[in-house]
Amino acid sequence: MSPRVRHILSMSGGKDSTALAVYMRDREPDMEYVFCDTKKELQETYDYLARVEAYLGKPVIRLNDERGFDHWLEVYGYYLPSPQMRWCTRQLKIRPFERFVGDDPVISYIGIRGDEQRDGYISSKPNITPRYPFKEDGITERDVYRILDECGLGMPAYYKWRTRSGCYFCFFQRKAEWLGLQDNHPQLFQDAKAYEKTDPETGRHFTWSQNESLDELANPERAEEIRRRHVKAVEAEQASRPDRPLIEVLADSQDQEDDEQGCLICHL
Ligand code: SF4
Repeated sequence: MSPRVRHILSMSGGKDSTALAVYMRDREPDMEYVFCDTKKELQETYDYLARVEAYLGKPVIRLNDERGFDHWLEVYGYYLPSPQMRWCTRQLKIRPFERFVGDDPVISYIGIRGDEQRDGYISSKPNITPRYPFKEDGITERDVYRILDECGLGMPAYYKWRTRSGCYFCFFQRKAEWLGLQDNHPQLFQDAKAYEKTDPETGRHFTWSQNESLDELANPERAEEIRRRHVKAVEAEQASRPDRPLIEVLADSQDQEDDEQGCLICHL
């Protein structure tokens, strides 16, 4: 007898994977919901997941690597992860997911939308087959907001100041979002700062944000400039499509200093 195919939906605490969980709840009753917990996520994410579990009537299984981020940071020679060297995703998201799956045949449900031009795949293991229900059914960003609104979950609370899920120190954060972290979680901002170092021998800087330390970014003059640029980026985005709700504008607006791609595993 061939082994039973498992259905697994990996959630990030972000809007798209949450909307997909809501969308699939009654379509796939055997769904296993998982969350790869780096233990460095925002409290808002944990709170949101608790509400999602209540809505789904099922646990969102927490997967993690017991050794944690700080262990891997040491293994990688204290090189902070970056868009070019994303060891955090591999060690803290993909590997725990693959361990959970084992060799079972699995369909992995991924929340990439019908209006996105990208592919995302959490693993390259041959027993894992990706499925993209939102792409198959043409579900757009607008639909995602509607799904979350109609089920009563709404958006994660961090959306007031940051539009991507993931670790509090994620290097994919926009400059303005770092300031949002400072405003909303001053201690976490200090904790993120503590990870930044300068190598005494080479003078090389290890910073989260490109080209500047968090101290520099939070300098009042620089912070003012970042906020100004952010407002301008939001206004430009609004002007390009005046019919869009503000929440969509905020999700898409970024100035030229921001990294636009984000992480397909952590930010869905
Ligand atoms: S959220 Fe960012 S820092 Fe955290 S694991 Fe993902 S890419 Fe790395």
